[in-house]
Amino acid sequence: MRVHVLGSSGGYPVPGNPCSGFLLEKEAARIWIDAGTGTMAAVQEHVSLERLDGIVVSHAHADHCADLLTLLVALRFQLDGIPRRKPLWAPREVWDVLPRFLDPRGAGILKMEEAFDFHPVEAGSEADIFGVHCRFIRTAHPVETLALRAEAGGAALVYTADTGPAVDLAGFAQGAGLFLCEATYQDALMGAPVHLSARQAGDLARRAGVRRLALTHLWPTLDPEVSLREARAAAGDVPVELARAGTAFEI
Ligand SMILES: [Zn+2]
Ligand SMILES: [Zn+2]
Repeated sequence: MRVHVLGSSGGYPVPGNPCSGFLLEKEAARIWIDAGTGTMAAVQEHVSLERLDGIVVSHAHADHCADLLTLLVALRFQLDGIPRRKPLWAPREVWDVLPRFLDPRGAGILKMEEAFDFHPVEAGSEADIFGVHCRFIRTAHPVETLALRAEAGGAALVYTADTGPAVDLAGFAQGAGLFLCEATYQDALMGAPVHLSARQAGDLARRAGVRRLALTHLWPTLDPEVSLREARAAAGDVPVELARAGTAFEI
């Protein structure tokens, strides 16, 4: 498997770095994971919308799902007039929240079901998504948020989405080839326990025995070099990198 980083900015996008989004390649399959603000443009650098197979979204916060709305416009208004639908795996909240942006006056012009085949997922769900076996657990975050473990051919990717520390992510990520872990905070800037710090991400990676840790969802105003240092101090022997937009990881 290969994972392209479309964006890794936490909360809001910045120049050169959209919000959360990744493109998972497994043989011929192209699966877009999280459609954060700005990732719609970035995903098209790797795959045409026609060729995109499906989308997996972790939760209903805009920095993870807002570009489903722009994807919907592209799919619904193809110039040949033939709408193309894509399968979408997401918590039900995503499906419930986004139509409020589309149709505030009940005009019924744009409907989610015109662009997406919805497959609701929840804590404990398992799904075979284009040959990739996916498992989901609920994270510690204010809305229904699902971390993802994606496995194929003996390789495993674990993506935490947004989460605080009060969940067994070390168990969920056990032995993963790539651990894409959110690292919103730093030691000197710890917010509410609905996100992790870089040090907490490093500690999880060490306890999970993952092969590689990539930090994502860094708060845009913080120095990423400090996040790297703090994560490495806790990660033991696990190599730690930043999930930089435009880079890719082989798993
Ligand atoms: Zn977020
Ligand atoms: Zn969130």
